[in-house]
Amino acid sequence: MNKKCCELLKKVINANYSNIRFDNISYNDEEFYYEFKSDEQVSENDFEKLEKEIQKLDNSIYIKLLRISGVYYKGNVNNEMITRIVGKGFNNQEELDKYNKFLNEAKERDHRKIGKDLDLFCFSDYVGAGLPLYTPRGTIVKDELQKEIERICRKYGFQKVSCPSLADISLFETSGHAKKFNDELFRVESPKGHKFALKPVQCPHHTQLYASKLRSYKDLPIRYMESDKQYRAELPGAVSGLSRVYAITVEDGHSFCRVDQVKQEIKNMCNLIKEFYSNLGLWQNYWISLSVRDYKNPEKYIGDPSDWDLCEKILEEVSDELSLNAKKCEGEAALYGPKLDFMFKDALGRDIQIPTVQLDFAMPKRFNLFYIDEFGEKQTPVMVHRAVLGSYERFLVLLLEQFKGVLPIWLSPVQVNIIPVNIKYHEDYCQKIIKQLLDSDIRVEYDNSDESMNRKIRNSNLMKNPYTLIIGDNEKNNNLISYRKYGSKETISIKLNEFIKKIKEEIINR
Ligand SMILES: [Zn+2]
Repeated sequence: MNKKCCELLKKVINANYSNIRFDNISYNDEEFYYEFKSDEQVSENDFEKLEKEIQKLDNSIYIKLLRISGVYYKGNVNNEMITRIVGKGFNNQEELDKYNKFLNEAKERDHRKIGKDLDLFCFSDYVGAGLPLYTPRGTIVKDELQKEIERICRKYGFQKVSCPSLADISLFETSGHAKKFNDELFRVESPKGHKFALKPVQCPHHTQLYASKLRSYKDLPIRYMESDKQYRAELPGAVSGLSRVYAITVEDGHSFCRVDQVKQEIKNMCNLIKEFYSNLGLWQNYWISLSVRDYKNPEKYIGDPSDWDLCEKILEEVSDELSLNAKKCEGEAALYGPKLDFMFKDALGRDIQIPTVQLDFAMPKRFNLFYIDEFGEKQTPVMVHRAVLGSYERFLVLLLEQFKGVLPIWLSPVQVNIIPVNIKYHEDYCQKIIKQLLDSDIRVEYDNSDESMNRKIRNSNLMKNPYTLIIGDNEKNNNLISYRKYGSKETISIKLNEFIKKIKEEIINR
């Protein structure tokens, strides 16, 4: 079906636009792709017209054009930019209608829409695409997430560290990342000619914290964690919303341990991931990939084959012992070792990989890391890389889509929104409430706009504020507050101190 659709699209494009060149069709079971270069501009606004013309050519076909983008010819950045149209074919109107319904639902849950509606992040042409700016509201969400992940990680023995955004290029040359990231690495030269790179990952910096002291076998495992920006020079055409960006904030951690500790270390990390996601109500709709080597092309990886054998065996045992049911995926391993990747589903049903646990025998050797064993001999530690929350940007995509923007109260940028019935008469009492809420560490907003009461209540609902207070004479005269909880139409009146106690409990209990 998709093959036939693509050929028809090609016909229609060639009939409607002049001088079509560099064109190419491709398709799979899901979608089809037509790439071409034309002298004329083609845009999403032309989709409807094109769909109709295709149906005229063959009325047994039902087609939906999905998106249009600029890509490099044959995927090579040195080639010209050409246009790619992506579409999908259907056998009948019913299938097409069903798909349209699905797309509309997905649009409602799209993180870019939610992010804009909830004023969490924005982009600026001056700053550049792929460089998200967190608004004050978005920064609260990000900070709360960071506090939560750090709270849980501390229980599992992680210590927080903080490293600079760039490093001498030799750090990444030694680690192998300069070669691995190659044209994705932002190279920076100082006016004095000193060569740096912006960090594409955090691991090499962390090896140097380990190397800063002499370590004994009794000191291990040593675990570091850091939430910081990492930089990747993605293709300009590939950046989109928060899913693909140049600057990502990554929650990252590393454990340096002995070989006999590796298995327990990986188990701890899997448990840590489970705890974090369970607390958020996200521990569902996931599957785990046991990402191993491409056995046919071993030259793609660094490290000893015997180390690889051992690492893969350990991960398989962990999967069995924790009943993770991990699916073995050949060729999905990292450059330096096999890993467990936790995959969740996004609003469109696509896999979105967030947490990961990766075994690495190679990097400690590259940096000559060692510890002194019980016989006074030097030994090389094993490095375990792990991300729980991973990139904050990608995690927010998952979170916002899953919750349709309704965040739990502890994560909400505004926890209580206060609406005075009459600003003139009720302002003083509202200010008193605000002060007490702020003193109790509750995030509060006061709506003193000129909108009508109903409009203000509606706006508060649109911003998905967990609590909206409505303050009038009855409240002022009796030292009460009246609140509406998000999603409920009922208004409840209680004493202010009781309300504060109730909210605080809700925040603590998550
Ligand atoms: Zn790492």
